[in-house]
Amino acid sequence: MMKGDLLIPSLIERAEKFFPKKEVISRTGSGVQRFTYGEIGRRTRQLADKLTQFGIPRGGRVGTLAWNHHRHLELYFALPGIGAVVHTINIRLSPEHIVYIINHAEDEMIFVDEDVFPLVEAVYDKLKTVKAFVVMTDGELPDTKVPNVYSYEEWIKDGDPSFQYPDDLTEDMPAGMCFTSATTGNPKGVVYTHRSTVLHSMGLSMADSVALSEYDTIMPVVPMFHVNAWGMPYASTMLGTNQVMPGPRFTPEILAGFIESEKVTITAGVPTIWMALLKELEAKSYDVSSLRAVVCGGSAAPMGMIKTFEQTYNVPFLHAYGMTETSPLATVSRLKSYELDLPEEERFKKRAKQGILVPGLEMKVVGGGGEVAWNDEDMGELLLRGPWIADDYYKDDRGEEAFVDGWLHTGDVCTVDEEGVIKIVDRTKDLIKSGGEWISSVDLENALMAHEAVFEASVVSIPDPEWQERPVACVVLHEGKMSTKEEILDFLRPQFAKWWLPDDVIFMEEIPKTSVGKFLKRALRDQVKAHYEKQ
Ligand code: AMP
Repeated sequence: MMKGDLLIPSLIERAEKFFPKKEVISRTGSGVQRFTYGEIGRRTRQLADKLTQFGIPRGGRVGTLAWNHHRHLELYFALPGIGAVVHTINIRLSPEHIVYIINHAEDEMIFVDEDVFPLVEAVYDKLKTVKAFVVMTDGELPDTKVPNVYSYEEWIKDGDPSFQYPDDLTEDMPAGMCFTSATTGNPKGVVYTHRSTVLHSMGLSMADSVALSEYDTIMPVVPMFHVNAWGMPYASTMLGTNQVMPGPRFTPEILAGFIESEKVTITAGVPTIWMALLKELEAKSYDVSSLRAVVCGGSAAPMGMIKTFEQTYNVPFLHAYGMTETSPLATVSRLKSYELDLPEEERFKKRAKQGILVPGLEMKVVGGGGEVAWNDEDMGELLLRGPWIADDYYKDDRGEEAFVDGWLHTGDVCTVDEEGVIKIVDRTKDLIKSGGEWISSVDLENALMAHEAVFEASVVSIPDPEWQERPVACVVLHEGKMSTKEEILDFLRPQFAKWWLPDDVIFMEEIPKTSVGKFLKRALRDQVKAHYEKQ
């Protein structure tokens, strides 16, 4: 067989050649704009030409501080296209972490959205390697003291629209970079290659996986600064799929509006986004009948939410699991062909699990000194390997703990059922150990969120002199709904062993979240501690 390198430019070249009329619909600061893949292809070549002229070297990193829009998509292709690395930076991190990340990656340039530019103004004098900033604006450049600032449209204008991507790129070259938050210390960098990105795009597209297709219109809500919006922009461009980019500071109303007006068929995001969308759908009527999959990952999808999407709105739901280190797609939860006739409750229960491994990857679940039995009960840490799983962190010795003997130790604890379906029970560090036995905070959270008065809930441990740790539930109620500790515990009682029941229920206005919308258990534990200290 021929040996061909798997290269990112080939993905956009395919869209240019075979799907030049298909569209990227992009919401920016000044409204919604439409571009064909033909136009995106030419603009990407102009950008690639300018980056080359600017002197971005092979392997050089260029940072982005940006939302989901067409210019960010152009950077996704132009940088790897010239052999450089697109380094997406999470705009919601603290300024200290952003400075650390840019300096650690030694970014040559930064492409920044207009509304994120104040962040650059606050930190630019601490950035050691950045030679220029390009502001992605539809209008005038902001008046600023920052040196070497260009406007994206002005900058690419005289780039060559027929620029040819170099033909000596190889598939193991670095192409993308994303930092993931560590429990303690600075974020850790993960580097994606051309090969890993192309294979991951194929992994996403398979019918038994996310099943992306040219027939779809996709709206990635998960940010392009978080694991490449789960790889959706790469896979969608490869296929010629219409992409709807929701842009800066979108609201549930904007998302629901796009679903209706653009007839979105697939959308992807974290559970907090879907909770907010459900609220919007409840408040106002939208036509969401075009949707054939709401892909949900990043945190466990509560079964109650899956049911509401499917039973109230007739919208199919797809639960998936992965992490920054895994590009991210690792598992997808679909029923097997012979499970379709199972009783409804059992089907929902299965689909609320994280699912089975995507073809191309391998897994091991290790606990108590060996691999655990596939009995849906024994817990162990999930280990993964495969061509789109990272094998180290970028210039960071913390990789030694996570990457051992060719396996990524995910830090996620799971069970495996007899069908090979994994259920993430907790992060290793979030499991609650009560009297030597494990309690899954995730199981309790999912049950709590099925209560009709509960908007969101998170469970953390508190130290206990007798049991070492005991669970405490932190609950946010829906607006206008009332409940009590006793009533919540009565609701949980029939579903769990007695010793799993939280010792307390604390009602809160809001659960602290990470920059990508996950429960921030570290901060929540501090709040719970402060709550008891006040008493
Ligand atoms: P990140 O690298 O920020 O994307 O976070 C990855 C982590 O999110 C994983 O290690 C899991 O702990 C968690 N995670 C991702 N998807 C799921 C899911 N479907 N269910 C439960 N936890 C998830």
